[in-house]
Amino acid sequence: MTMVKRLSGAILFLLAVPVFVWRHGEITYATLCYVAFTIGWLVIRERLTRGQTLKTVTANVDGLEKATLFATAIGMMLLPVIALYTPLLDFALYTPTMAAFIAGTVAMALGAYVFYRAHADLGAYWSPTLEIRDGHQLITSGIYGRVRHPMYTAIFLICIGQALLLENWLAGIAGMIAFTALYVLRVGREEKLMIEQFGETYQAYAARTPLLIPSLRTRS
Ligand code: SAH
Repeated sequence: MTMVKRLSGAILFLLAVPVFVWRHGEITYATLCYVAFTIGWLVIRERLTRGQTLKTVTANVDGLEKATLFATAIGMMLLPVIALYTPLLDFALYTPTMAAFIAGTVAMALGAYVFYRAHADLGAYWSPTLEIRDGHQLITSGIYGRVRHPMYTAIFLICIGQALLLENWLAGIAGMIAFTALYVLRVGREEKLMIEQFGETYQAYAARTPLLIPSLRTRS
């Protein structure tokens, strides 16, 4: 039962497919791709964070952080669900071009892959808000050797995919707007928390590792 609860978001998106077909008489590849990749990253998160047991030592959540997290849930989950299930946002329907469809699919696929790698490498130190866990270690290898915030890179890619594949410009762009706000308000505080916790080790890591976009030059 708890698994069903933890996968309720994915199940909601899965059930959106027959509802959408019932409402519109058909479903396009773009919408289908959007739904499939969304279920994909939701399942990845459920699988890779299941049974996380490390206790939280320091929590760093303020009202603004809560508000942007809530806004991101609305932009990446609630508005797309409303757009798929109900006619409320039908005024914003549009048909993406073939180029948008291809770019959106590539962004989503890359986003889901980076999301998976980040969760696999960060393991039990992951948290939805800024926290230090019991025995927290600094991860600097795997995908964290390429960029410092691969999960945020992944979510930006997923938001690009959402905007290009979900055939509703309003619900499409909502994820990107909300997550950009979350990112802008969070990343500085996260870096500060990491420096407080890991000191020079983090500063040295930050000096050799880019924030979001990997450098193309191979490192020696
Ligand atoms: N910003 C990272 C992690 C997101 S999860 C990313 O985008 O991949 C947020 C939590 O990860 C924070 O509470 C922080 O304590 C932890 N964290 C961030 N970077 C870390 C690192 N390199 N090693 C260990 N924990 C890290």
